[in-house]
This record gives sequence, structure tokens and C-alpha cells, in this order.
Amino acid sequence: MKFIVDLTMGRLAKWLRIAGYDTVFYNSANPDKLIEIASKEGRMILTRNSGFIKKKKKTFEEKGIPFLLLTSDRVEDQLKGVAANFKLNLKGNPFTLCIDCNKPLVKISKEDVAGKVPEFVYQNYNKFVQCSNCKKIFWGGTHKERMEGIIKAVIEN
Ligand SMILES: [Zn+2]
Repeated sequence: MKFIVDLTMGRLAKWLRIAGYDTVFYNSANPDKLIEIASKEGRMILTRNSGFIKKKKKTFEEKGIPFLLLTSDRVEDQLKGVAANFKLNLKGNPFTLCIDCNKPLVKISKEDVAGKVPEFVYQNYNKFVQCSNCKKIFWGGTHKERMEGIIKAVIEN
């Protein structure tokens, strides 16, 4: 399942990526282009802009694009709403997408990260992945801790 979020929800985009859901952050105000991307790439539209939904509801229905209007400005509540609405498994596929650019992470050997991550990390972790796009390196701790924080926040509230 893939998503596109509008300007108002950059944090939600990151959280969905951490959970392994391909999410485009659409940081422009052109609604027609957003709809075009959603339609072409099969993405669900997530927005907090009720005027946008009101105006474009007919277009969404004609094009068969699922959408969800979120009302909360808290990212925990937003994620909870999305998970409930689309029946997401937030623990299903973490550690697969770059938090920053939504591109696939690929395995990288421990030898190859020497000198590129903090010494403490190098000593304490054995599994590393790298973004195929921005080349940022992630390790067990980065996604896992954030993931656990998210799940906790979503379940507890
Ligand atoms: Zn990246």
C-alpha cells in the first residue's frame, strides 16, 4: 500500500516510511498534480485539508483514488487514524525505506561502513543498510528504536 501526503504532514510521511510504507511527501500547493501522482502511482491520498477533499471528492471517486481526511495535528493520532482506516500492520515491514527520501535501503557489509558510522555504532551493531539514493547509512538501532517509539505512542494514546 502506497501513500501521498500533502504539505501539512511531513512528519507523518517519515513515520509511514519507518514502518515500511512507501510515502511521497508532496510539498507543493498544486492539488491537480498531487491527484495526478496519486492516480498514476496508485497512492492513497492523506490530507488535513478539508477544503481540498470537499472540492475534489468527485474527482477522487471518478478516478478511484482512496483518500483519508485527518483532523488531528498530532502525528501519533494521524498515524493511528491511517493504520485503522487502511488496516496497516505497523510492525510488518520496517527497516526497508529511507526515512528522508523514501527510496529502498540495501544491505551493506560491516567492512564497508568502517569509518562512516560512529565508532560506538560500529562496535555494537552488525547489520547495516544504506539508502540507494542519498547513501545515508542506517543500523538496527536507528529504525528499531524509532519504530518502537512510534508503536508505543500509537498504542498508548
Ligand atoms: Zn535516502
